[in-house]
Amino acid sequence: MANSDLKTRVNVSLPRLFLWAIAAVNPCLGAIDPSLAPGVPESLARERAEVILSLRYELSFAIPDKRTEAVRGSETIRFALRAPHRVVLDFAQPRDRVRSVRVGDKPVEADFAAGHLIIPASATKAGENASRIEFLAGNDSLNRNDDFLYTLFVPARAHFAWPCFDQPDLKARYSLTLDVPSGWEVVANGAELERAASGETTRVRFAETPPIPTYLFAFAAGKFRVETAERSGRTFRMFHRETDVRKVARNRDAIFDLHARALAWLEDYTGIKYPWGKFDFVLIPSFQFGGMEHPGAIFYNAASLLLDESATQNQLLGRANTISHETSHMWFGDLVTMRWFNDVWMKEVMANFLAAKIVNPSFPEINHDLRFLLAHYPSAYAIDRTAGANPIRQNLENLDEAGVLYGAIIYDKAPVVVRQLEMILGEQGFRDGMREYLKRYSFANATWPDLVQLLGTRTPENLAAWSHAWVDLRGRPELTTHLRLEPNGTISSLTLTQRDPLGRGILWPQHLQVAVGYADHAESVAVSIQGAVTNVSSARGRKAPLFVLPNGDGLGYGMFVLDEQTRRYLAGHIEDIPDALTRGSAWVDLWDNVLEARLTRGEFLDLATRSLPKESDEQNTQLILSYLSRAFWLLFPPRERIARAPKLEALLREGIARVRTPSQKSTWFNAFRDMALTADGVTWLERVWRREQKIEGLTFAETDEITMALELAVREVPGWQQILDAQRDRTQNPDRKSEFEFVMPALSADASVRDQAFERFRKIENRRREPWVLLSMHYLNHPLREEQALRFVAPSLELLPEIQRTGDIFFPERWMASALAGHRSPAAAKTVRDFLARHPNLPERLRWTVLSSADDLFRAAR
Ligand SMILES: [Zn+2]
Repeated sequence: MANSDLKTRVNVSLPRLFLWAIAAVNPCLGAIDPSLAPGVPESLARERAEVILSLRYELSFAIPDKRTEAVRGSETIRFALRAPHRVVLDFAQPRDRVRSVRVGDKPVEADFAAGHLIIPASATKAGENASRIEFLAGNDSLNRNDDFLYTLFVPARAHFAWPCFDQPDLKARYSLTLDVPSGWEVVANGAELERAASGETTRVRFAETPPIPTYLFAFAAGKFRVETAERSGRTFRMFHRETDVRKVARNRDAIFDLHARALAWLEDYTGIKYPWGKFDFVLIPSFQFGGMEHPGAIFYNAASLLLDESATQNQLLGRANTISHETSHMWFGDLVTMRWFNDVWMKEVMANFLAAKIVNPSFPEINHDLRFLLAHYPSAYAIDRTAGANPIRQNLENLDEAGVLYGAIIYDKAPVVVRQLEMILGEQGFRDGMREYLKRYSFANATWPDLVQLLGTRTPENLAAWSHAWVDLRGRPELTTHLRLEPNGTISSLTLTQRDPLGRGILWPQHLQVAVGYADHAESVAVSIQGAVTNVSSARGRKAPLFVLPNGDGLGYGMFVLDEQTRRYLAGHIEDIPDALTRGSAWVDLWDNVLEARLTRGEFLDLATRSLPKESDEQNTQLILSYLSRAFWLLFPPRERIARAPKLEALLREGIARVRTPSQKSTWFNAFRDMALTADGVTWLERVWRREQKIEGLTFAETDEITMALELAVREVPGWQQILDAQRDRTQNPDRKSEFEFVMPALSADASVRDQAFERFRKIENRRREPWVLLSMHYLNHPLREEQALRFVAPSLELLPEIQRTGDIFFPERWMASALAGHRSPAAAKTVRDFLARHPNLPERLRWTVLSSADDLFRAAR
């Protein structure tokens, strides 16, 4: 599964309390059995993994033309038992959706409690059992639209649609049959075996899958177009709904090539052939994630693959990464699966880690070490520097809480940690270890300790201790350099001390390269940190440096407290550092130092505006522009922003004119669009939006114009309402048009309309399109609307637990982030603190979500 910025999902889960109420009044149950709590409790999963063997599902769904009509389903579940045993299936739907249950040829009176269907032991026997269930499928995870639907069962949402054992370590073979309206396309994990039309309905039967878990079982059906391509003797199929034919034509070859290249690379790296037979993928508008790795049928967010002509280098890289990420999952996650979702990060980290390796050869002009640094460190630090930091590996008692595990620590910190692991084992040793792991656990499950043990035999270092600090515990080390010079001006000693900012006395072992910098070059000194104080003995005797960056090669991880001399040197000369990676690393460290108030906002803005025109690396330019924007909106009060704006806009306009490629131009233009404040600047932006002002070398897609219209409206330019209306009428793509219409009230200059725009989100049916909600929240809480938006802070916090219960996995964190990102006032900070004080029993993970989302606010408001 790939994290990405845009997602949605129709999705309602039954409130836990409601289900408990059903359980409590069920006379058959007597005292409540904790393994029959709602969701999928770990105790129930352990019980089932012990007793259920050789599992197979034969599943049928009849999908009607109208989405208001129920999807009818039936299944035969085949499994073996060593002895008669109760069989508990998960099905989070009202009881009357189960039409009949049979075991063998006999009807069974199954109990129904708290989202579980219980077949008594007396109805089962030792050896083979077959249970036949007729049901009405739940819609919650079927993502039903007027003319298409798709399943999304991760992490444990299959049982919202059909009765099953919804846990990752009960892998099963699936035989699927679908009845769909004639004229619909269908795709599933298995290859299509046969298709028979009778009147309005077409029946399609799919080949039985190899063993896969419920969260990877998937199908999509509806009005899709299908593109087919051959690469290296393999047929790839792309299902999509894009109406812009030229857009598809422009992207299709690149998309197929990227898949084929990733596949070939992975077969070579793992030493295992692609395990799933055919290879299809489906491009879904407003898909919840960047992608989801269903074996044989990957689902993607259409927008992350079908790029506009104006795509930036980052978007092109992002697409290659997403495709390689999902393809890596065919081995890591799909072939070998975590035993339980507490280890979901393992598959994510390997997919991210390998995606970086795969993408590199396709982008020879990119500095990939810099890419790794910028793709992972800033976002991982954004959580790890806060009081809401979470560990990589977390306990998980029930799969219905699995969503809160996902976030930047899994997606961005864990790859840094795994790169350290690769340094410990060596590239070859690491790959061989992974091959052994994939071979040993093929079509089965494994835990992180299984992998640590397997790899531990390949190194003398204490992997268990290393894993404990980096994987089991939260937070990051704070590292400080101490430099002493001899009277002759050479280095007498260079030491690195580490400290646990959370006061637990944790020591983080790590390998890093200290950059000892001079005017025209930097020397890299390898250091292995084990204890609290590390003496960098090989630095001794070198010429006195101008700066010391402990993270010079971007390998180390932590809060690097820069010494006074280094801070002063960087503030005056960062652009003179010749190596782009060292510069990028210095910027990441500097931002930490700004947030820690070791560098003032004025110093930082001056530094950024001075060095930006001299920055030669596009990735660094993007990083600096994003820090600049964050500093501008977060650290400067409105009056100072206005004072700073003319110079800043001039700099950005010069940047747009100076740079050469469309990708660079849109990077600069987007920064301008984001920060424009002066009357001149906003008028120019409006002329660009009206297509009166052309920018040479830059063309705008519909999505660009939509964003321009929204940015103009939030600035309340005269005629903002007409601009929004015109943009709505201009928008061709129906999905984007609906989204735009949904977001429009959040842009109104009328505060009471914005109040109503917010009030909508109290109702679950108005939160179903999560990307739409997040975009609305972004503009409702825009820094220019901060004062009025203060009244949204408390209700946004109050809604969080419900959002966690009912929303998709990334939604709680993104909801909170979009609610707080525009705020910098002490009053907003107080509202957050009061909320936390009033809710001492808020689950720890939600508390962490609040604390990490509020971190910038707390810093700005202090
Ligand atoms: Zn993934």
